[in-house]
Amino acid sequence: MPAGYYAGRSHPYREQQIPRLSKAHEIGQFVRVKCANCRITRHYRPGDLIKVFGDRHVFELEKQFRCEKCGEKDGVSVAFVSLSAEEIPGLIVRELLRIEVRHVPIWQDVKL
Ligand SMILES: [Zn+2]
Repeated sequence: MPAGYYAGRSHPYREQQIPRLSKAHEIGQFVRVKCANCRITRHYRPGDLIKVFGDRHVFELEKQFRCEKCGEKDGVSVAFVSLSAEEIPGLIVRELLRIEVRHVPIWQDVKL
């Protein structure tokens, strides 16, 4: 399903109708992320994206991605795709290796 225009939260019933990552995972779909500016296409496994973003639907997910090459969010489109058995061999999937937690020092000025 190609992602279209989504301004934000809609009616709860409508929200439930939008395909979510858990459903895509269940039925063996892949998540296709394209950057129109760079003409780059990447495929992800929905199960990996659930670990990073939670069980989001396709429109929410589109807002999460930023192109790794140009850094833009505007040209990025996200779709859940079902690939045929002939398309899967040789497909390059961006796999989640690990999630690193970074410790960042936060400083503040205090008056003595
Ligand atoms: Zn790009």
